[in-house]
Amino acid sequence: MTQAVLAEKLGISDRAISKWETGKSMPDSGIMLELCNLLKINVNELLSGERIMAEVYDKRAEENLLAMRREVEEKNRQMLQTEYWIAFPAVISGLVMVFVASFIEMPVWLRIVLIVFAFVMIFTVAFIAVGIEQKAGYYECQNCHHRYVPTYWQTNLAMHMGRTRYMKCPKCGKRSWQKKVLTHL
Ligand SMILES: [Zn+2]
Repeated sequence: MTQAVLAEKLGISDRAISKWETGKSMPDSGIMLELCNLLKINVNELLSGERIMAEVYDKRAEENLLAMRREVEEKNRQMLQTEYWIAFPAVISGLVMVFVASFIEMPVWLRIVLIVFAFVMIFTVAFIAVGIEQKAGYYECQNCHHRYVPTYWQTNLAMHMGRTRYMKCPKCGKRSWQKKVLTHL
């Protein structure tokens, strides 16, 4: 089957297929099954990049699952690091501004401008940081260990210590201090 024929059957561009073949990108999960049906292979073989003999099939499937899990964990870890590197400098520089405005000789209007600016900056950054935290990984209920993604406002308004937030579990309905976890299971 040529790239053009396959592309037409899947309703995507043949450049996308050439990228898969050269290893520059992977097919989206949404078309993997259809692609596998067309090629008469299974997802395990697609991810492995080769036909798999029956005796090593389970082993390869497990390797592929673990590799995917590592990828998800790594992505979420990077996002949480980004949150830290956005929030930490903003809080420090905001506190420095408030300190300067409180203790150093300057006109009153300048004090006010500095303090207002510091607060607006800290709040803006905090809102962005919570958005990153909410999307990266999951929170785990302490009561039933259900892992889920809360809404933005549920996350933002929850009491928290670091990334551990006091929230209501959507499954068991209990409130608890829920830890951030990187994966769904
Ligand atoms: Zn629960």
